Amino acid sequence: MVESVCILGSTGSIGCSCLEVISKNVDRYSVTVLTANNNYQKLYQQCQTYQPQLAIMACEVSAAKLKQLIDKSGLNIEVRGGVDAVNQAAEHSAIDIVVAAIVGAAGLLPTLAAVKQAHKVLLANKEALVMSGDLFIQEVKKSGAILLPIDSEHNAIFQSLPQAGNKAQPNLAGVKQILLTGSGGPFLKLPLEELSDKTPDQACAHPNWEMGRKISIDSATMMNKGLELIEACYLFDVSIEQIKIVVHPQSIIHSMVAYLDGSVIAQMGNPDMKTPIAHCLAWPDRIEAGVKPLDFYQLAGLEFQPPDFERFPCLALAVEAIKIGKSAPCILNAANEIAVDAFLNEKIKFTQIGLVIQQTLSRSNFEELASLEQIVQSDKDARALALVVIQELN
Ligand code: NDP
Repeated sequence: MVESVCILGSTGSIGCSCLEVISKNVDRYSVTVLTANNNYQKLYQQCQTYQPQLAIMACEVSAAKLKQLIDKSGLNIEVRGGVDAVNQAAEHSAIDIVVAAIVGAAGLLPTLAAVKQAHKVLLANKEALVMSGDLFIQEVKKSGAILLPIDSEHNAIFQSLPQAGNKAQPNLAGVKQILLTGSGGPFLKLPLEELSDKTPDQACAHPNWEMGRKISIDSATMMNKGLELIEACYLFDVSIEQIKIVVHPQSIIHSMVAYLDGSVIAQMGNPDMKTPIAHCLAWPDRIEAGVKPLDFYQLAGLEFQPPDFERFPCLALAVEAIKIGKSAPCILNAANEIAVDAFLNEKIKFTQIGLVIQQTLSRSNFEELASLEQIVQSDKDARALALVVIQELN
């Protein structure tokens, strides 16, 4: 049976890798819905190649430009524009799999809509889960959606945990600890006094992974590992004490699970997101991903070390946020998105990212977030507060 796929955020790094994997497996997957924000030229190219039934752009002006190109080319593709259209993308009738690859909080509503439709949901958009935590997981349980992690570390943990038959929920029997690995990013060994002068391009130059700019900055601050820690707690229903962060600069081991009997099971591979994407698309089968095989004869030494919380204060803030609970992870995520955007636009220095988040958290009240409306409001308030903090810094 050919499964039809909706990619939320198809023009991004994950979206493009996903389309590459689909290209290698056209007998198994067809592309039905593609969405983007404003990159209409790239979405047009994807429409030409993959001929989805529906193409959606959050930006209405970009959607109008895309429609002009589609009409001119004679392609039979419906084009919709606007945030609501993106939020409803997964409600299209003919979808089996939704790939949640929008960056940031903008992915929350479209991803939740996918979950509510009880699709197979492939989650890359970690921010959505960090913001909405318990509510997100409750919706998954309520709808019976199959949630599979694309994030390479969580995918590795998922692969290393005992599987409960062919159910997506892994079981934790005999598990002692989850070992969440992280490369440490481009500034792992940089003298601390040089950090404040680093430019957005330098911070985006990750040694192992090619990714979108927001997650690249998160990797340089190690906030990415902090968000992943929170993501892992929700995905695998474990406490922060059951997870240990291990810095592994080579990104060959993508995470591990330690068992009571002393065994440690690791998932390895070249750092290429097509591997976890292919794993999730085909799960529980395996398909060709187009990834260079790991050559053990070429591997130099693999290093492992503990995280340095002084160098990476954002990681310490994420640990604090998950310990506080309530709205703290949502506020952390919102403040981080605002701070990263400010850094990318050269309004603050690299070392001020953590300061903005710390100040936003320290001026916030933490409340239980029982509804989607409360989550959206908490995100909005934290963004406003983070902008005030940035203004005060300048
Ligand atoms: P990119 O920035 O490369 O792509 C983001 C995608 O989201 C683009 O299609 C973009 O459209 C779309 N988008 C951005 N803003 C909006 C918006 N407001 N409304 C609707 N669509 C929007 O990001 P990545 O692919 O790097 O990351 C995507 C997600 O996956 C993130 O949550 C990230 O943390 C996670 N992830 C990424 C990894 C990677 O290797 N890249 C690894 C693990 C997780 P447009 O092109 O038009 O702007």
